[in-house]
Amino acid sequence: MIGLGDSSYEFFCQTAKDFDNYLSKLGAVPMLPRLDCDVDYDVPAAEWRQQALGKVKQTLSTDDANEVQLPLNHESPVVSAYTKQNPYSATLLTNQKITGCHSSKDVRHIEIDLQGSNLSYQPGDALGVWYENDPALADVVTTHVGLDGSEIVEVDGEHLSLKQALISKFEITAANPQLVTRFIELTGSKKLAKLLEDKDKLRRYAGEHQVVDVLAEDKTKLTPEQLIGLLRRLTPRLYSIASSQEEVGEEVHLTVGAVEYEYGDDIRQGGASGYLSRRLEEGGEVKVFVEPNSNFKLPADDSTPVIMIGPGTGIAPFRAFVQERDNRDALSQNWLFFGDRTFTEDFLYQVEWQKFLKSGVLTQMDVAFSRDQPEKLYVQHRILEQGEQVWQWLQEGAHVYVCGDANHMAKDVHEALITVVELQGQQNREQAEQYLNDLRKNKRYQRDVY
Ligand SMILES: Cc1cc2nc3c(=O)[nH]c(=O)nc-3n(C[C@H](O)[C@H](O)[C@H](O)COP(=O)(O)OP(=O)(O)OC[C@H]3O[C@@H](n4cnc5c(N)ncnc54)[C@H](O)[C@@H]3O)c2cc1C
Repeated sequence: MIGLGDSSYEFFCQTAKDFDNYLSKLGAVPMLPRLDCDVDYDVPAAEWRQQALGKVKQTLSTDDANEVQLPLNHESPVVSAYTKQNPYSATLLTNQKITGCHSSKDVRHIEIDLQGSNLSYQPGDALGVWYENDPALADVVTTHVGLDGSEIVEVDGEHLSLKQALISKFEITAANPQLVTRFIELTGSKKLAKLLEDKDKLRRYAGEHQVVDVLAEDKTKLTPEQLIGLLRRLTPRLYSIASSQEEVGEEVHLTVGAVEYEYGDDIRQGGASGYLSRRLEEGGEVKVFVEPNSNFKLPADDSTPVIMIGPGTGIAPFRAFVQERDNRDALSQNWLFFGDRTFTEDFLYQVEWQKFLKSGVLTQMDVAFSRDQPEKLYVQHRILEQGEQVWQWLQEGAHVYVCGDANHMAKDVHEALITVVELQGQQNREQAEQYLNDLRKNKRYQRDVY
């Protein structure tokens, strides 16, 4: 059994743990002990796979099993050679700020050239981006532990300067519970030690701090090996694709919200969003791959109505959906819910939506700008206001899509949909939950939330 997860989350590799426990209870004996992998799973997972295949071979040969030739698909489509492990070095064509100059948010429309890569994607897929950390941040990290960055380290058999390793091989922005634990063990930090007694506190602390904050808690000199031993390997970030290839050919578009916040006197940036929005220049190269998502797809039938709910950067895949339906001349109804802070500063792709409304590709658009009136107004309020019509669309077979913030928005929208089914469909809460569950099972309620 192998679990792939992210140790920043409470239920890290929980599915693997549950299966493992359940199978053990039934008397199963594992071929190998369960391995719980963190986000930088490539190396341990590959080792585990090798061992597991060895065990399977042993078992099959002792059981005298027959080898079965699986049918080969001779008509396999042209597949790009570029993958997560072997990303394509693409050119950044455009980086355009699409929030107003007085907005409290910095959101960028990013266009990337895929020409010659054979990479293809469908609306609903994501683009994986291998980013580079800010060189200035790498300097701050090394200075914190008494190093200057010119020290040579070995990473995967490659010798490079510590600074370069911090830029391209390790996570040096977001902290994680493992880093904090290792740091406490290494330094004996009294200030942080009590975090080890409470997993929730540890996770919260890691979620609210960056690597440099942890290092600053206990000024200690480290060797280059000790420093990189604390850090997680750099992992690519995913961004919902905001374009349809029917519209943009061999380009891919993204909608990237720059993560930036104040911490004391410092300004902190997110690793990948900072790279895409601030450090990478137009004409520069960025390593990318396509991450398909079969659970967030337009209905095969072009006449099926769709309801799209995508506040903030959650709007990205719906730009792809609408472009696709426009190019396919789909005779369908498309309804978009969008929300953000203010109409004047944060209405992402406003002109494009107006054009689609005018041409009839978008049947309806409802917007909620939370800071334009004294009381906060969000997309879930618009859904409730339009409950009768939402229910009617559902009765007509509409598919519902939700994209964006997982912590609040997706839950609030889910609650609003339950209320609509309760009120309009005259069902009790249990029945309404079951109704949405059935929609989900029938792939009529799909969510891509992060
Ligand atoms: C399937 C999928 C699709 C996605 N699509 C999009 C998309 O279309 N557009 C988009 O912009 N993003 C999208 N994301 C999110 C994106 O992948 C990144 O997570 C996001 O850009 C942040 O990454 P980063 O490397 O910039 O930040 P990181 O370097 O990972 O830093 C983020 C960390 O900073 C810390 N932090 C952030 N704000 C604060 C604060 N105010 N105070 C204290 N700490 C803070 C938190 O610890 C947080 O974990 C998507 C994610 C997934 C999984």
